[in-house]
Amino acid sequence: AAKAAGKSAYRTCTSTLRESAVSRAELIAELRRAVDENQLCLEFQPIVDLATGTVGSAEALVRWRHPRLGMLPPARFLPLAEETGLILPIDRWVIHEACRAAAAWRGRAPQATVAVNIAAAHLHRSDLIATVTDATARAGLAPGALTLELTESALIEGSEVVLDRLRQLRELGIRIAIDDFGTGYSSLSYLHRIPATELKIDRSFVTRLGEDDRAYATVEMVTRLAGAFDLAVVAEGVETERQHTAVAAIGCAHGQGYRYGRPGELPDLRGRTGVGSPA
Ligand code: C2E
Ligand code: MG
Ligand code: MG
Ligand code: MG
Repeated sequence: AAKAAGKSAYRTCTSTLRESAVSRAELIAELRRAVDENQLCLEFQPIVDLATGTVGSAEALVRWRHPRLGMLPPARFLPLAEETGLILPIDRWVIHEACRAAAAWRGRAPQATVAVNIAAAHLHRSDLIATVTDATARAGLAPGALTLELTESALIEGSEVVLDRLRQLRELGIRIAIDDFGTGYSSLSYLHRIPATELKIDRSFVTRLGEDDRAYATVEMVTRLAGAFDLAVVAEGVETERQHTAVAAIGCAHGQGYRYGRPGELPDLRGRTGVGSPA
């Protein structure tokens, strides 16, 4: 019931924002205060091991509990945050919160890992490593329990400095996922250079599984590619039984999507199997 209420509240808020003509400047000023005033919150979406049905990890997704407009999804404020540089303090907050939540979760599920999304801007900052190590140390979290998700486009501009920074993170044990894989202009040569541990197959391909042979071939190919590069692989946006059956048949090891669970509270993931019971 709480979930249904949350969903309709969310819908109301989005339309409120569209209609209320909140000025851009006003929203920027409010966003600037949002971190300090504790208005951001995280939801966690399960990532399921398709062979066993267990939830081995979760992705942290930021939301803004806006004082007047209600719960805002990332699409409503992250573009503004990226333009203004506010994405840096926001993501720092997310990293700290996610590490704290992960440490608590690992008290019950010792092998669990948590993923956070990192905006491209972080890759160009020399303090990224300090931010990440500070967060894991403060939370008492093993670095291997944290995955940084980066999009292909963020990585593709990767200079030698950026690649070096990623290698240092890897050496510390931090995992690196390439998010929305297949949507950027990736070349195979760049996959050789980026020290990734994981590919997340973009939802756009998974959505068309069962309807479009080329989408099937794409998911199959990326899964094989991941295997050949010794990378973990996650199918994003699995919503239907048909898509679930297809990704499992292809041999993709992990799945994420409404089929297994919507973003929500981390404690809810306890004991949830995702596979076998409709989401
Ligand atoms: P993403 O990293 O690719 O995250 C997956 C998005 O797909 C999430 O949307 C999730 O709720 C949604 N999703 C998951 N399963 C399904 C499904 O089965 N069907 C459909 N239709 N959608 C599904 P969300 O939470 O709105 O986040 C959107 C994007 O915002 C994320 O895409 C990520 O790029 C960005 N983002 C979210 N949180 C953060 C953050 O803390 N920092 C940064 N820099 N970016 C973030
Ligand atoms: Mg992501
Ligand atoms: Mg993604
Ligand atoms: Mg995406």
